[in-house]
Amino acid sequence: MYLKQANLAENQRRESVRGSGFMTSLIFSIWLFSSVFNLGYAAEAPPKIGESGALLRVGIYDNPPLNFFDSANEPKGIFIDVLKCIADHEDLQIEYVSDDWPVLLEKLKTGEIDVLPDIAYTVVRDSIYTLSEMPLLTSWIEIYSHIGSSIQTLDDLNHRRLAVMKNSIEHQHLNGYLLHQEDLAIEILEFPDVSSMYGALNSGRVDAFLADRFFRYSKIFEESKISGAGTFLPFNLHFAFPKGQHGEQLGFRFDKQISTLRNTPGSVYFKSLDRWLRNYFEPYIPAYLKNLIIILVLLLIVVLITLAVARYQVNMKTKSLRLSNQALLISKEKAEEGDRLKTAFLQNISHEIRTPMNGILGFIQLLQESDLEGETRDEFIRIITQSGERLMKTVNDIIEISRIETGSQEVKYSVVNTQEVLTYYESFFQPQASKKGIELSLDDRHVRGQQAVIQTDRIKLDGILLNFINNAVKYTDKGEIALGNYIEGDRLVFYVRDTGIGIAREHFEAIFDRFRQAEDQLIRNYEGAGLGLSIAKAYVEALNGEIWVESEKRKGSTFYFAIPYRPVKKEQPREIVKHWDGNGIQILLAEDDEANFLYYKFLLMKEGYQIVRASDGEQAVRIMKENPGIALILMDIKMPVLDGFEATRQIRQFNSTIPIIAQTAYGFVRDKKKAIEAGCNDYLSKPVDHHVLLRLLEEHLVKKGSKQIQ
Ligand code: ADP
Repeated sequence: MYLKQANLAENQRRESVRGSGFMTSLIFSIWLFSSVFNLGYAAEAPPKIGESGALLRVGIYDNPPLNFFDSANEPKGIFIDVLKCIADHEDLQIEYVSDDWPVLLEKLKTGEIDVLPDIAYTVVRDSIYTLSEMPLLTSWIEIYSHIGSSIQTLDDLNHRRLAVMKNSIEHQHLNGYLLHQEDLAIEILEFPDVSSMYGALNSGRVDAFLADRFFRYSKIFEESKISGAGTFLPFNLHFAFPKGQHGEQLGFRFDKQISTLRNTPGSVYFKSLDRWLRNYFEPYIPAYLKNLIIILVLLLIVVLITLAVARYQVNMKTKSLRLSNQALLISKEKAEEGDRLKTAFLQNISHEIRTPMNGILGFIQLLQESDLEGETRDEFIRIITQSGERLMKTVNDIIEISRIETGSQEVKYSVVNTQEVLTYYESFFQPQASKKGIELSLDDRHVRGQQAVIQTDRIKLDGILLNFINNAVKYTDKGEIALGNYIEGDRLVFYVRDTGIGIAREHFEAIFDRFRQAEDQLIRNYEGAGLGLSIAKAYVEALNGEIWVESEKRKGSTFYFAIPYRPVKKEQPREIVKHWDGNGIQILLAEDDEANFLYYKFLLMKEGYQIVRASDGEQAVRIMKENPGIALILMDIKMPVLDGFEATRQIRQFNSTIPIIAQTAYGFVRDKKKAIEAGCNDYLSKPVDHHVLLRLLEEHLVKKGSKQIQ
């Protein structure tokens, strides 16, 4: 087309030289048009072989692994890899033409394709086609038949059927061979490619087929089903091109590239061999072995999973056992600790009861037996009194702690002047402290005046302060003790500071526990049951407060407690703490027990009261009727003839104003309630603390108007 158009343009140009001026311009236009037209055609014409981007038509048929179409219909194989590499280097475009082998051979002859890969050299073929000088591979023919078949040579195929690929090297060789073997009767069936021959063998249509040795490397080949035998006729495999200048030119260019590829280690050629021939060297594993291996692997996985699960379970079990062991150990330690504490407590209590008892009994005996001088006698009596007080404190503490344990604590708020309380305790403990050579004083830091008047439970406040100060005196041998209190936010903080033996930090918490003491019982130098602080702590907690200690061993301690600050704004009748003279006021003491009566009598008479005794309830009612001068009744609840409740009820029928204070058994809340219901104004729990008794008497006498505030 290009040439034709060029000739036309040339003719038109010649015409224009001969023609007129008008014609000249017309012809020039036509020439210009045709030039442009020609140019357009020249741009679209495909490049010829030898030109850049030329199209290379490549014949391809199914002969794995040398050249074939894979499952995605992509051309693959050793010849294709090399072909692509050469096309890249030579700047050629590939177009694949797929067909049966005999057809492709024909197409190459007629020049319909430019290249046919994978062609074995024969003299005949060399005369029909241009073969590349350089072969790509060397192969030979093999007879493929079922595994275990007796076919080893072509002679074994007598009276049998043999498949060959039409026009293949195997086909040609077979024909040549059979020409000289007249006795050999082999039935030959022709096929277009190896896959169909393989199919024929499998279906039993043929007994064997001929193919080159590379068939072993194809995916079709199954070593478990067929084997190759009778190898013969080695031959080289080449690229083939059509005869003529064009084919020779291509052959020359291919040879150059094949030579380079074959002489360069690691080139596309070697990589391709490695890729397509490697599977052959993979060890053949029979199907039963494969299944066995799969079963073993599965078994192994199951065993491993079972092991892992078992291990996990064992770990969990061990963990939970360890935890329960720890818990057991902790509870064992707790039990042992509890046991130890119980033993220590019993030892301590027994010591705390026996020691004063010994003192009391021993000195009473001495008092009875000897003819003693006045001073020694007084000393003995002092010791007996002290021992009695100590005994009483221990019993009181035990009762109090068991009351706390049963949860029968109640809080009774009244108006209390803390300044007066602290001043009272300062003067009360001073003699005891100075006897030990210690100075005891109220700090300047204490709440004064109206600010010191608060609402709180007086008995509990007394209990806590008494314990703190008693301990301070007990555990201090030299130096000083100071009391004080201050307001901190909405709390009122009390403290007792001493320069005594101090407490190690590790005991700061334990000393507030029941029966706990900072020192070991056996080496203790101090008396005490170890209950005081735990009672104080229970009191503080009942008042919604907090208790703590700051201390340093051998330097001293400061015990604190803080309670909610509830100031009383208005001037209220104040708590009387100072001891005062009974001034001959008559008190009816309804008490059947002789010892108790003597105790109260002694105590009250010492304070200046006059005592009238009633030994039962009936007597009490009668005495009251006969003695209107009696200002107050101390009424025991448990009495013969008429109990305290009934006696009170009867007295209330004719005297509604006289203060009656019941003495109930310790901790019996029910009795207290009953006493108030019967008409009592207040109650006291036995054993009675003499400070509390005197304060209560005073309070009710002042209320009634029998006494004036002092
Ligand atoms: P105890 O009857 O043994 O004094 P407490 O409960 O009152 O019982 O005190 C518990 C322990 O706290 C005491 O045994 C003592 O070891 C320690 N303790 C209490 N107060 C003081 C203090 N002021 N100085 C040193 N140790 C103290």
